[in-house]
Amino acid sequence: MPSLAPRRCARRCGILIAIMRKINGKIFSPHCGKLCFLFAVAAFGQTANHDFGYTDTPMLPGLPYHVHDPARPIPPVVTPGALPGEAPSDAVVLFDGKDLSQWESQAWKVENGYVEVVPGKGDIATKEKFGDVQLHVEWATPATVTGTSQGRGNSGVFLQGRYEVQVLDSYQNRTYADGQAGAIYGQWPPSVNASRKPGEWQTYDIFFEAPRFEGEKLVKPAFLTVIHNGVLVQLHKEAMGPTVNRQLAKYVPQPAEDSLKLQNHGNPVRYRNIWIRRISVPQ
Ligand code: MG
Repeated sequence: MPSLAPRRCARRCGILIAIMRKINGKIFSPHCGKLCFLFAVAAFGQTANHDFGYTDTPMLPGLPYHVHDPARPIPPVVTPGALPGEAPSDAVVLFDGKDLSQWESQAWKVENGYVEVVPGKGDIATKEKFGDVQLHVEWATPATVTGTSQGRGNSGVFLQGRYEVQVLDSYQNRTYADGQAGAIYGQWPPSVNASRKPGEWQTYDIFFEAPRFEGEKLVKPAFLTVIHNGVLVQLHKEAMGPTVNRQLAKYVPQPAEDSLKLQNHGNPVRYRNIWIRRISVPQ
């Protein structure tokens, strides 16, 4: 409560002045004023130190810090993107609308600031490999609707090339719940269907915690949080294992980091503004 300190100081000053008056029997002398000033400086100096925190506060449970501890590391500065959805200063920009230089394959079509799946040309995967990340992806299914269910605007965002957040035209398109847009495919349906119409740009903001292995043994599964068009659709969901179709997922030992993959399911889905940040997840 730093705002109380100046009041407290003024009160102390007032008491000091009253004492001086009592002693001198008259309005305080210049010496008294100086003394009061020094007192105020000392009191305000103490207040300024509290700008950095407190050490007379209780210890936080399980942590080596007091409440408001000045020794607690200060978070680094990250400059956010100028507009919502734009890459912050510490992001790896995977696709900025110009080229696929960050990707192993350049077989998909790049034009007008987006990249489009080219049927028959395979998936694309990043050159760089990642563990725990925050990922931003924008995507659009074809404006001209063809096909039904899983055949309509199907693609997918595969974290570490294994864990798929489904991309699908799920606007008035019935399919199985754990296969619609925003699903962790084959495992967890999204909590709501936040899909936009075919052809409209949509966003995914995905927070991924990579699984941990000790040798062959899984010690922590993968977790995903997914925000679709600003709507939370998956909150810290435990992946049952790498994505499979019509089977039960099962973990197998994997590298700590691996490529991000975008799926080619034969539909001309478009992507733009893809960026990723490595994040630190307490274990
Ligand atoms: Mg898919």
